Amino acid sequence: MKKKKYWIIGGVAAGLLLLLSIVMAMMMMLSNKSCKTGGTADIGGGSTGGGGAWTQVGTEAYKNAEATFKSWTEKGMSGAQAAGIVGNIGGAEDTGFVLNQAEIGGGTGGGLYQFTPASKYLNDPKSDKSWSVENQRDVVIDLEPATVKQFFADTKGGSPEDAATAWMNYYERPSAAARANTNSARRAAARTAYELFGGANISGSDSILGGAAATADGGSNAQNDENQCNSSSTGAGGDWGWPFASIKNNNPAISGEQLFGHSTTRTGNFHDGVDFGDAAYGGQEIKAIHGGTVYKISHSGTTQDSLGYYICVKSDDGYYEVYQEFAFSDSQASKYIKVKEGDTVKTGDTIGTLPKSGSETSPLVNHVHIGVSKKEISAAESSAFRNDGTWLDPVQLIKDGQSK
Ligand SMILES: [Zn+2]
Repeated sequence: MKKKKYWIIGGVAAGLLLLLSIVMAMMMMLSNKSCKTGGTADIGGGSTGGGGAWTQVGTEAYKNAEATFKSWTEKGMSGAQAAGIVGNIGGAEDTGFVLNQAEIGGGTGGGLYQFTPASKYLNDPKSDKSWSVENQRDVVIDLEPATVKQFFADTKGGSPEDAATAWMNYYERPSAAARANTNSARRAAARTAYELFGGANISGSDSILGGAAATADGGSNAQNDENQCNSSSTGAGGDWGWPFASIKNNNPAISGEQLFGHSTTRTGNFHDGVDFGDAAYGGQEIKAIHGGTVYKISHSGTTQDSLGYYICVKSDDGYYEVYQEFAFSDSQASKYIKVKEGDTVKTGDTIGTLPKSGSETSPLVNHVHIGVSKKEISAAESSAFRNDGTWLDPVQLIKDGQSK
């Protein structure tokens, strides 16, 4: 989702471009093997669009940047938090602060937040289609209330730089390569915004977004309750099992970047789950690795840079499992997802089908990513790519947890 392309501007020798494109091609090849890492290796750039530089007082871009900053502080964000958001726009997303900016480098995205596709902004019920600063903010909140609230809760009292990185990871969610390439530009721009717009003088207000944060958690629980046919039982935990019937002798065909843990290609050098590839398992049913209730099926992004459809299961022994990245489009979802919200699954029950190798190329599907946490999955996603104990090794759990 929100994959962006940035262009190098000015005076770059052709030879350097060639070298860069080779490096980028290599990174793309590497990242295509694994989830959440695909896409273009983005290059941070400083295009200023037609409205002048946003760091220069009096330009159109400056006015829009300042208005964006205010649009968040008036919602209760601190100066540092608002600067973190502005830093993402000014450092990487829409560096000219052109309000209806089409996706830089081509693509379907648009606007300050590079809504992808732009119709996501235009068609949202909260959209007045004006591309105004305030309306874009309102649509951001409407589209991803939990993300905004989580960002608010987690970056409270922090620096503008850390807020910038958090907004990148929570909301913008570019490819791992883009995160690596643009993080420092986002952070630097956040510091600039903080100083330009008087961020130090503005503390956050819990009464606005903080209160909403509490409701966010309540909301998610409420959703669980709503989906439970029987509120006294959320589904069995019980044994653990392999997601594919063809895995024998505790010996799954996974290696390298597919494994949980250390990763050489991802942000944070960390893979927060396991990828089962279509070469070994395409065409087979994906089985529940642990029993529980399918409490949420949601959708985030339509390319392999993102989660696509993801299926969240809550087990009654405190584990949560997520199955993602095996269906990105609606038609893939209807073909490959075999459960619905509210279903109870036992270990070994069918969750979906991993497409046959080569059969789903647009969008590409070449693996299923399975993650396990003791945190509710939406909360755990705040620790995407982070080795902070949130994500657990599914392979270890399966190996240790099978019935003997
Ligand atoms: Zn993965």
